[in-house]
Amino acid sequence: MINKLDYGKWAVTLALKKDRKAVRVSVKPEVVEAMFFSKFMSERKRGIPPAEVNPELILEGFKKTISRPDEEILEVSKIFTYNFPPAPKPSFNVVRCEICGEMVAENKMRIREGKKVCLPCSGY
Ligand SMILES: [Zn+2]
Repeated sequence: MINKLDYGKWAVTLALKKDRKAVRVSVKPEVVEAMFFSKFMSERKRGIPPAEVNPELILEGFKKTISRPDEEILEVSKIFTYNFPPAPKPSFNVVRCEICGEMVAENKMRIREGKKVCLPCSGY
């Protein structure tokens, strides 16, 4: 199971459910920084979509990274015990959003100005 946290980081925590053993792997800060100062990224910052950046620039950065040993690029933690968050309770109730009229699982429903509303309509 993959749980994407969207923290804006270049890291993963790999954990086994059966014994809660985990390891965290992250890209070293200097590697991320170097990537953001690459020719590819300067093209992206100029507003050029990825598919239109000169492939040579992409290949250049790729070769630089792929040819280096893992330990120069990645930080690997010691093995530790990972506490899995409790599984959310399933919701068997649905309500109708009072703004858009669509059905929404009750546990995702919000109250806005006294109305039962879905997440997009809640404005959060
Ligand atoms: Zn709605």
